[in-house]
Amino acid sequence: MSDYSLRCVECGKVFEDSEAGFLLDCDEGHGSSLLQADYSVMDFTLDTDYDGIYRFRDWLPIRRCFEYSPRTVILESEELSASLGLPNLHFAFNGYWPEKEANMLTCSFKELEAAAVLARIPDGEQRMMVVASAGNTGRAFLEYASRTNSRVLVVVPEFALPRMWGSIPKGNSCKLVVLQDADYCEAIELGNEIAKLPQFYAEGGAKNVARRDGMGTVLLSAAEALGKIPDHYFQAVGSGTGAIAAWEMAWRLTADGRYGQRIPRLHLSQNIPFTIMADAWGNQQRDLPNIPVEEACSKAKAIYASVLSNRKPPYSISGGLFDALSDAGGIMYTVTEEEAKAVGQRFTASEGIDLDPAAEVALASLFKAVAAKTIAPEDCILVNLTGGGAQRFAADKRLIPFAPDLMFRKDEVNPETIQTKVASICAY
Ligand SMILES: [Zn+2]
Repeated sequence: MSDYSLRCVECGKVFEDSEAGFLLDCDEGHGSSLLQADYSVMDFTLDTDYDGIYRFRDWLPIRRCFEYSPRTVILESEELSASLGLPNLHFAFNGYWPEKEANMLTCSFKELEAAAVLARIPDGEQRMMVVASAGNTGRAFLEYASRTNSRVLVVVPEFALPRMWGSIPKGNSCKLVVLQDADYCEAIELGNEIAKLPQFYAEGGAKNVARRDGMGTVLLSAAEALGKIPDHYFQAVGSGTGAIAAWEMAWRLTADGRYGQRIPRLHLSQNIPFTIMADAWGNQQRDLPNIPVEEACSKAKAIYASVLSNRKPPYSISGGLFDALSDAGGIMYTVTEEEAKAVGQRFTASEGIDLDPAAEVALASLFKAVAAKTIAPEDCILVNLTGGGAQRFAADKRLIPFAPDLMFRKDEVNPETIQTKVASICAY
């Protein structure tokens, strides 16, 4: 539907996605690298036949547009602008807030990636896509797969199970698998094993250009609303995929020329004590700190914003977060639970909507940037509020829990047991 090719960041090799179907990796023998999408339409265009993400379809690697289309809302806060002395402060609200026409019913910007990734699946694909998640991604994929009858299997660690819910019952085309007593990385590893079975394939995470360009539409919504590329972009990061996506999309906007020539400075934040990317960036290191798995797991489980807990983020990979931070003059912040909660309560009190913990972390980093003077008062600032409105959604009694189809113990994560158990829920 959209016209694009894929290019390897590391070696520049170009691929036609139409033939490969769902390409995630370069086939040259170099180190790990992301692919990027090059769209034949060079100017930023809007298809006003669509209301949400699909109005940006010329810059999405998709084969179809679904009827239901998540929408990022750009808004301002008089109270926060005044108290922080930032007249050009803007928020990208991704979540559920009916009065503002914010329509993401799973209350997270992960709907943007689900809506793009599912629209990239080749026609006639009979296999089931495997997606691993720490919570929000899984919820978004289950919701959209249920709405669109897409074949998706979601793997989550057990701690994420309370966050598996949607606005409609889980469809027959999708399955939810839970790994007990595990962290996000272990759920990813189980997902990788399931994806090796012949009737499955991996969604690909950060390597999926549809996932990144779907999330990158947050910046397009801002450019549309503000008429320019913001000077600064704030986001809390777990894998950093959303920030990589904003960086990539900013370069496309500069090529258009009408929205400015400079990409935004990236201001990214992590939640103490799980701060591996902030620590590496603070030391200007491409490699993540080599900390024992036990220690990393216990820190990952300890954080308030649990979705920010990826132990193996796409940080070092070519075209990944280290490259994005280097190119965009990036700054990383670390935020405590108390700091996040305090600004979250303040936002809710002034604006009347609850924020996801990760969005609270991003908002807390804005306060730190003001204190550290890493932004100037007159600068144009965009804060990506990556989730919000979950409490409001629950209060509106619209929440339907998704029950697991299959539970795994960690000692069952071996090829034979996986095949047997998965066959019990997926007819093949
Ligand atoms: Zn390559």
